[in-house]
Amino acid sequence: PTALAAAPAAAAERTAPYLNPRLPVDDRVDDLLGRMTLAEKVGQMAQAERGAVAGDPEMIGRLGLGSVLSGGGSTPADNTPEGWADMVDGFQAEALGTRLKIPLLYGVDSVHGHNNLVGATVFPHNIGLGAARDPRLVRRAAEITAEETRATGPQWTFAPCVCVSRDVRWGRTYESFGEDPRLVTGMTTAVEGLQGRRPSRDLDDPEHVLATVKHFAGDGDTKFGSSTTGTYTIDQGVTITDRRSFWRTNLVPYVRAIKKYDVGSVMPSFSSVDWTEDGVGNPLKMHAHEELLTGVLKGRMDFEGFVISDWEAIKQIPGDYPTQVRTSVNAGVDMFMEPYSAPQFVETLIAEVEAGRVPMSRIDDAVGRILTAKFELGLFERPYTDRSNASEIGSREHRAVAREAVAKSQVLLKNDDRALPLDRRDDIYVAGVNADDIGNQAGGWTVTWQGQSGDIVPGTTILDGIERYAGDVTYSADASASMDGADVGVVVIGETPYAEGVGDVGNGHTLNLSAADRANVEKVCAAIDTCVVLDVAGRPQIVTGLLPKMDAFVMSWLPGSEGIGVADVLFGRRPFTGRLPVSWPRSEAQEPINIGDRDYDPLFRYGHGLRTRGHHH
Ligand code: BGC
Repeated sequence: PTALAAAPAAAAERTAPYLNPRLPVDDRVDDLLGRMTLAEKVGQMAQAERGAVAGDPEMIGRLGLGSVLSGGGSTPADNTPEGWADMVDGFQAEALGTRLKIPLLYGVDSVHGHNNLVGATVFPHNIGLGAARDPRLVRRAAEITAEETRATGPQWTFAPCVCVSRDVRWGRTYESFGEDPRLVTGMTTAVEGLQGRRPSRDLDDPEHVLATVKHFAGDGDTKFGSSTTGTYTIDQGVTITDRRSFWRTNLVPYVRAIKKYDVGSVMPSFSSVDWTEDGVGNPLKMHAHEELLTGVLKGRMDFEGFVISDWEAIKQIPGDYPTQVRTSVNAGVDMFMEPYSAPQFVETLIAEVEAGRVPMSRIDDAVGRILTAKFELGLFERPYTDRSNASEIGSREHRAVAREAVAKSQVLLKNDDRALPLDRRDDIYVAGVNADDIGNQAGGWTVTWQGQSGDIVPGTTILDGIERYAGDVTYSADASASMDGADVGVVVIGETPYAEGVGDVGNGHTLNLSAADRANVEKVCAAIDTCVVLDVAGRPQIVTGLLPKMDAFVMSWLPGSEGIGVADVLFGRRPFTGRLPVSWPRSEAQEPINIGDRDYDPLFRYGHGLRTRGHHH
């Protein structure tokens, strides 16, 4: 019941050039922009959360919202492919009821598969894919992620994270492909897998989605701890560096994602940058960083897509709300993830433009970028979900690719007396909660935001995988069952799920092993001749004192739903080929430690990984 509500479509509008799919996208954008009121333009720049819109779907039409997102774990009550598609299509109907019928863009964090959806194929987190060092496999995993996501409605994912992780005390290290900018750059094939190939990309095809490279930039390179200039938290903290090093360490992956793969969107980081050459002590939030967002990203890098702010990130800019809105729009942010305050955002930005504090040219630039994506995605022609690929979700073929990715991500760090591969005829004793917990092996961003222990998605645990190979398997989470007669002990240690913040060292987390994991290693390695330890975690843990007790040590990372891929390499069906994407510290205090450091002396070097030959028993 407002200005933006549906008015009977005038004949002229039905034949308007922007509705003509035969015209070039640029012409359609220009035509549509010319028809829009300020309110309609600003609405396109706003993104609200599913949780805010679900109870008030008319908000979409009232504000002329450009986008809705599902933050981590914000799933429809009916968390099935149908439930998702019905929800997204319901919201789409609201958008199509507006005067100009501009379709809605729906975004989700499909960061390791369509991970919010129960039943989707859940891939290893990026750190494992970095270990696998197979850009084609990353592209294939991203293709599957795109297909499974789009078949349920969302046309946009906030992935891949191209963060370069420089300190594993950062809780989001698992979202990084590694510490070397060249390695991360090589994995931007994920963008191509999600969006399709250039020059056309295949965004209007129901198998692809718009990608987002994030978090621009320096999110994995922030300072931790105290120094003379302050006390720094590692997540959403401050990168203290000079412009040259910042480019070489943190910006390089963006260049490839933009120039080679034409990535559709970029998400700025919650963190700040403090240039040493300008005098340390004056950090600037990335969401307010005109030099980097407009000068570098849209200028030097020629980025033609749109910038989507991170969750309420503009609220971290100093000042009142109008200042935060004005500063970030003028710095170059195009769409605003304001999950529960989209109405205030729209109202505020309209007022700022009317007062002359935000130029109309900036609004037109932002909206033009957003509309371009919507035209390219084919949303004006096919706004509703093409559900025909839903039968492929979690299919055997898709899981086989994830299984291959798991196997290739395994890093063999130690293997004395050829303890590995195992023999299927061995009597195997398995210990550790993480051997049989699919939630722990999937980690954060799995059904819920922070992830959750337990049987949360279908798939195989590592124990399931071992049992498929060997006939004689005894499992005891706390190593309390009898070990008599066992030839091999397999102890699975590791972390429990987290996504953001809570995983940070200094925020309740540590890189040290839990008492239970230490006890399991001590017990099993003392009692059984051959002792193999697997680490299911998003980053290296401190194992220095325990390592001599192990015959073999494997980093399994966060493999996702296909734990059987771990068993594939344990039993030699596939060879170990993974190599460390981050340096492995001797102690927590050794962080940050990265290749190229002076006095580089990690427990395991960047790139370390023993190989075995695959063989069949
Ligand atoms: C994270 C982003 C994510 C967004 C939306 C934020 O908290 O930093 O990576 O895309 O939430 O869920």
